[in-house]
Amino acid sequence: QTNQPVVGRFAPTPSGRMHLGNVFSALMAWLSARSAGGRMIMRVEDLDPRAQDRAVAGLLMDDLAWLGLDWDEGPYFQSERGDLYAKAIAQLCEQGLTYPCFCTRSELHAATAPHASDGTYVYQGTCRNLSPKEIAEKSRLRAPATRLRVPNEDDPTGTVSFCDIVYGPCSEVLARECGDFLVRRSDGVVAYQLAVVVDDALIGVTQVVRGHDLLGSVPRQMYLQRKLGFSSPSYAHVPLLVGPDGRRLSKRDHDLDLGVIRENGYSPRKVIGYLASLVGLAEKGEEVSADELVPRFSWDALRKHRADIVMEHETLPPFADASR
Ligand code: GLU
Repeated sequence: QTNQPVVGRFAPTPSGRMHLGNVFSALMAWLSARSAGGRMIMRVEDLDPRAQDRAVAGLLMDDLAWLGLDWDEGPYFQSERGDLYAKAIAQLCEQGLTYPCFCTRSELHAATAPHASDGTYVYQGTCRNLSPKEIAEKSRLRAPATRLRVPNEDDPTGTVSFCDIVYGPCSEVLARECGDFLVRRSDGVVAYQLAVVVDDALIGVTQVVRGHDLLGSVPRQMYLQRKLGFSSPSYAHVPLLVGPDGRRLSKRDHDLDLGVIRENGYSPRKVIGYLASLVGLAEKGEEVSADELVPRFSWDALRKHRADIVMEHETLPPFADASR
């Protein structure tokens, strides 16, 4: 894997305008690929019908281009790739790895054990061994979701280990830490985990760089890659930006969304310089283009910043209108 050319990707979800936190991850993905002489792909993650607004997708892409973060291929739209996902789910089904799950949200909450580290729930296998008769009966009442079986806890093939470029060695026992997971929701929408694995493999992505909040998805994604016969890309997760109160930035932080920042007259060099300064790739207050950062990039800069990056009031340029 080491001599492969780097093919990285942007994978924005068009549920709203980008905020500085998304831009930080995108900048690191782009710098990593460009500093290795690699290519970038654009993929719009609009699986959810609520995120299929082409105008928003257009704004996200325009924001990245405005920042000087370009790509060589795409955009691919997940909303147009349903056949590829269906084929992959059929392949898992043929291996006897999937089963229909009829659990409602409230049943899931009642029957699942909380998972300590990230608050998600471990599926307890309620629908794992339904008989064909039970399946037929339940199907009359509601449409099932599709779940993927993971190996039992004592089966070593159910332990997934990898080395994240920033966070180092990680390992997870799937049965203990996530349980059987969804590959398709009951409303027919394909699960993020499945779509991302199919897309990264078929598009030829070799390096995934994204926010630290998705580190916990890697074991599920690697398990899917194994079952679908795909090789795994390398993974680099980058710290999240959090506000002075320790809360991660989100679409609610309108002050820090690119639309507002652009309206307030900030230059791309100011925004890029600010983000780069958070991890020591630029001096405080330095204005710099993404291109100029390429020769400065190294993963070591990120390894020194594994904790969330707090955007202190003192260091935060007045991106927001002072009256707000
Ligand atoms: N679409 C996801 C997001 O916007 C990123 C998924 C990924 O990078 O795997 O947070």
